[in-house]
Amino acid sequence: MKFAFKLVVLTLAMGVLLSCQNKTEKTETTNTIINEIPSVNGDKQDTFYQYSIWFAFVNRVFDGSLTVKELKTHGDVGLGSFDLLDGELVMLDGIAYRIRENGEISVGQDNDEIVYADAAFFNKEDVFFIEEPLIFNDLAAKLDIKKKSPHYFYIYKIHGSFKRIKLGGVPKVEPPFTEGLDVLIPNRPVFDAENITGTLVGFYCPDYIGNINAKGHHFHFISDDKKWGGHVMDFESSSTLEVQFDTKIKYKFDLPVSKDFENVNLSKEFQYN
Ligand SMILES: [Zn+2]
Repeated sequence: MKFAFKLVVLTLAMGVLLSCQNKTEKTETTNTIINEIPSVNGDKQDTFYQYSIWFAFVNRVFDGSLTVKELKTHGDVGLGSFDLLDGELVMLDGIAYRIRENGEISVGQDNDEIVYADAAFFNKEDVFFIEEPLIFNDLAAKLDIKKKSPHYFYIYKIHGSFKRIKLGGVPKVEPPFTEGLDVLIPNRPVFDAENITGTLVGFYCPDYIGNINAKGHHFHFISDDKKWGGHVMDFESSSTLEVQFDTKIKYKFDLPVSKDFENVNLSKEFQYN
């Protein structure tokens, strides 16, 4: 969070502004100073961004139109799925990787479309370490200990080595879409890797998010050599994990503008936990 920083900037700016007015009465200078207060960028730095809503994604709104180029204006880390479920998405250090259902990994191009995504600008707030061996099922409890409150949003970058890791892909679909995520996810392609080093990119939403997003922790993985990636289903660590996290206090989503979204029947529910 950059609250304290923003308040300092604002206070300093106001101080300069007042002193300029008192001494010179130069309104031109005053305007310049107001324009320099980075309120828009500051908001983006504190924002958890989401494209589409989880409820729509679960209920077969699989034709999205957020481009990779647009996604990057909302963050430098992210996760989600490409248009028509043609690959899982994990964004790390501003690069959006696409993991297709056969496990092949490529870099998403500016005009490639996304159907669902979480994204944020990662500002490392704190770091802590988790000794090996850690299994995936025990990760959430370790992260919860360090949360100021379960009611904020959190972004994670977790780096380390894994004795084994199980990653999920998505099967590409064509319209008309007959199955929702409640059917597709339990039957997703699975990639098992051993003795691998890489980064988990994670997003945490409080329970009150309801069906707007996936509740709790949601992780995607990309290996250091960029040969393995996907939705994290299970792992056992084989090194100390370095956990960097960032608390977000603002939330923003963009809804798809499409007939599919306008007419979607939001009847099916699906959550990972
Ligand atoms: Zn996922």
